[in-house]
Amino acid sequence: MSKRTLSRPTVEPFVVAYDDEQGGPLADLTIELTPKPRLAYKVMQPDDRDRRGVLWARVDRGPIKGRPIFAFMNSERQRECMYDLLCQVCAEPASRNEDGWLFLDWRMPQDPPTWPEGSLTNMPPLCVACARVAVEQCPNADRFVPLRVKLPRLWGVSGTAYTWTGASWLSNDTIPWLRYGDERLNAVLASQLIRELCKVTVVDLP
Ligand SMILES: [Zn+2]
Repeated sequence: MSKRTLSRPTVEPFVVAYDDEQGGPLADLTIELTPKPRLAYKVMQPDDRDRRGVLWARVDRGPIKGRPIFAFMNSERQRECMYDLLCQVCAEPASRNEDGWLFLDWRMPQDPPTWPEGSLTNMPPLCVACARVAVEQCPNADRFVPLRVKLPRLWGVSGTAYTWTGASWLSNDTIPWLRYGDERLNAVLASQLIRELCKVTVVDLP
């Protein structure tokens, strides 16, 4: 694996956020009784909730493409890549062989002792060519561990947590990672899809 990194990436990953992309206004949110209260948009669109009923953040952008913010991912594009297992850089199908899909992951303090088995990630998989570019260009590349994952289970989401004040929703400034089925998801506006990496093999970059 190359240790060389560039001071500024030359490739703009498909999932990257741009500085002209704005989250939807708080005024668009309302409460829906199911009968328990949950977040909803006043005017719902077909993709606003995922198949598990979680509400997703909307992203608006102007006509002029802004500058990439490499430290952040666009929620719609991250969701699309993670759900469909597309390469996070080029949006083509991610590399898959008999050992599974190709991910680049690194160990975090909250990871289980079994890491990389059973770890959670918000980073979608990659194709081989883009994984090589990522290792060359990403400032975090020294920590990357290439993995093959046979069973990347849909686990849950991360997003902004809200509290119902009785009149409106108020962000409580936390961004929890919550498993599908957790009741707290009723008050979360999701911005990233999380997969649990199961049946993992540490590999060399192909
Ligand atoms: Zn790619």
